[in-house]
Amino acid sequence: MRPIIYQRATDGPSAIRALIAIAPANNPVVTDAGIQPLAGGTTLLDLMKLDVMRPRVLVDINPLSNIWSAISLDGGNLKLGALARMSDVAANLDIQRNYPVIADTLKLAASPQLRNMASLGGNVLQRTRCTYFRDVSYDNCNKRHPGSGCAAMDGFNRTHAILGTSEQCIATYPGDFAQALIALDAVVEITGESGVRNLPFGELHKAPGTSPQVETSLMPGELISAFSIQGRWPRSTYLKVRDRQSYEFALSSAAIALDIQDGAVRDARVALGGVATIPWRAREAEALLKGQKFDEAIAMRAAEAAFKSATGRKHNAFKIALGKRVVSRALHQAATMEV
Ligand code: FAD
Ligand code: SF4
Repeated sequence: MRPIIYQRATDGPSAIRALIAIAPANNPVVTDAGIQPLAGGTTLLDLMKLDVMRPRVLVDINPLSNIWSAISLDGGNLKLGALARMSDVAANLDIQRNYPVIADTLKLAASPQLRNMASLGGNVLQRTRCTYFRDVSYDNCNKRHPGSGCAAMDGFNRTHAILGTSEQCIATYPGDFAQALIALDAVVEITGESGVRNLPFGELHKAPGTSPQVETSLMPGELISAFSIQGRWPRSTYLKVRDRQSYEFALSSAAIALDIQDGAVRDARVALGGVATIPWRAREAEALLKGQKFDEAIAMRAAEAAFKSATGRKHNAFKIALGKRVVSRALHQAATMEV
């Protein structure tokens, strides 16, 4: 048995002081990180039980909910507190009306019980479901033990990534909500020792490259406090294909947002889930759609473009064909929505 120190933050500065005091001199989101913030605990406690994460100290940030869980749609801009619960955001009528893609990504994730516990900040920082990462009886996992190799590369890699992979790691980023955030150009508000900084959401996650153990650009002692999105996206949707219809991670998914005027696409956002190592923006697909009249042919061409750089392996090559169908169907779904 390993002893764990549990600390309850009383406010933002006290949480950050606690995190800084014992933070390792590297990225906090690493396997052996000595200290971890605790939100809903639905990822963190799971990984601690599996012995994959072994923090010595947990800093419970839930007392900050009074300042970090608001949902506000002010002047057409959305702000979501990082401690807002997934179920509260999914059920919010303003979100359903103005950002259906956000409500969809949250409603289609996990289970009702998990969504009641899980926070938005914890959701975007959830870790891969790669079986070899989650099972410590496998020694070769570069994410858990840098330099040890990758058991998935020649192992059973059906659920693994086909975009953004490296020779060191092919683990899929598992979350759904992050695809909505990256598609809508969200900004993540980060609170740390020296105050608040804002980062484009697309810069939060790091592709594995040669350091798969470094998953985000958060620095020691930093907490996600909020997400914000400019403008409204009523014509937006999320399509998620998985092995069973509920309580399952995506094999392939697409978050789509369109601005269509007089039949022509003025703006298009396409993000892919279940197929990439990080939340993935398909900019080639977006470029093809912009300025065009929307029809099935352009949707198919955009879907092709989205997977142009995909690399399939022994068990996951099917995701290329599946992903293209998901993108074209999701585009059609968004284009024909009543708004
Ligand atoms: P925690 O477990 O408390 O934290 C997760 C990580 O983030 C920890 O490292 C913690 O230290 C860090 N952290 C938390 N909050 C902050 C913050 N504000 N600032 C900095 N660091 C922070 N997700 C999906 O998207 N789709 C699914 O289909 C899905 N299915 C699931 C099925 C199961 C069986 C389970 C267990 C989970 C599933 N999930 C799914 C994941 C689930 O949504 C996440 O576990 C949850 O959102 C994490 O939120 P949390 O508040 O519980 O995070
Ligand atoms: Fe580890 Fe990544 Fe390989 Fe999975 S894919 S075994 S997480 S290095």
